[in-house]
Amino acid sequence: MQIHTVLVVGAGTMGNGIAHVFAQHGFEVLLLDIRQEFLENAMQVIGGNLDRQVKKGILNEEARRETLARITPATDLLSAAARADFIVEAATEHQETKKSLFKSLDNAARPGVVLASNTSSISITLLGSATSRPDRVIGMHFMNPVPVMKLVEVIRGHATSADTTQDVMTLCERLEKTPVEVNDYPGFVANRILMPMINEAITCVMEGVAAPEAIDTVMKLGMSHPMGPLTLADFIGLDVCLAIMEVLHEGLGDPRYRPSPLLRKMVAAGQLGRKTGQGFYSYTGSKTP
Ligand code: NAD
Repeated sequence: MQIHTVLVVGAGTMGNGIAHVFAQHGFEVLLLDIRQEFLENAMQVIGGNLDRQVKKGILNEEARRETLARITPATDLLSAAARADFIVEAATEHQETKKSLFKSLDNAARPGVVLASNTSSISITLLGSATSRPDRVIGMHFMNPVPVMKLVEVIRGHATSADTTQDVMTLCERLEKTPVEVNDYPGFVANRILMPMINEAITCVMEGVAAPEAIDTVMKLGMSHPMGPLTLADFIGLDVCLAIMEVLHEGLGDPRYRPSPLLRKMVAAGQLGRKTGQGFYSYTGSKTP
């Protein structure tokens, strides 16, 4: 697979990280979002993250300049898709949005161009079925923060071909990431295992088994987790955790994936974690873990 230009759709937290990593590894990147101001913000974030890499000695000044110069902001989906040799979608986690994006990308992209999605939980098989090329549709699940985290879950939909999977595994290696191939089932592997653990930690809080700090300390010091599950839940966002538990519960149909009632209650109260200043911990004053 010859790739010169990569289109990244969505310039939020993940999209700007994905654009950064592709550009750092020599690819021309078109970074697309629905509003110019989102793109300006993304370019600023990428610039700041590149500065950090220069300070740490990971990149030199010249590589920083060249990386930024390889990223071109875009708002016209059809012309950007027509120019791309490879497409990664990292738009909002909303099934209908992604299905409609895949339909448009399929119409505009050249035949054979791979359409990858960074979705955390939406079925790759479903996204593939919105296109005329389900064999070229695949999951490419980067971890946050993308420039730092090594793992990419490479998710094979029901119709994804072996060639497409191999192309994407090789591409991940060119990005100096470690790809792991998994099949398309709810939550893939990362969230299938992580989210029930977080959900159980929340149920422990609800039942008064222990306080959040105590639960996090048990998992950090007892299991060598770098971050306790409740600190991690606040970092991810409790609304995101709830959405993923719903996908597991609905998709697998087993009551063991039932979202904790306390998780539902905190989301209903707008206590979503770091992004709202309050979750299992408070982020407005001094009391952060
Ligand atoms: P985000 O909200 O930060 O960014 C999403 C961006 O997509 C926004 O800038 C939005 O304007 C843009 N967008 C929405 N509709 C669009 C459209 N039709 N065309 C172009 N752009 C559009 O979200 P995020 O955290 O970057 O998540 C993006 C994807 O990555 C989701 O599928 C999410 O599940 C997945 N993901 C997120 C994380 C994480 O930790 N945040 C980790 C792994 C995977």
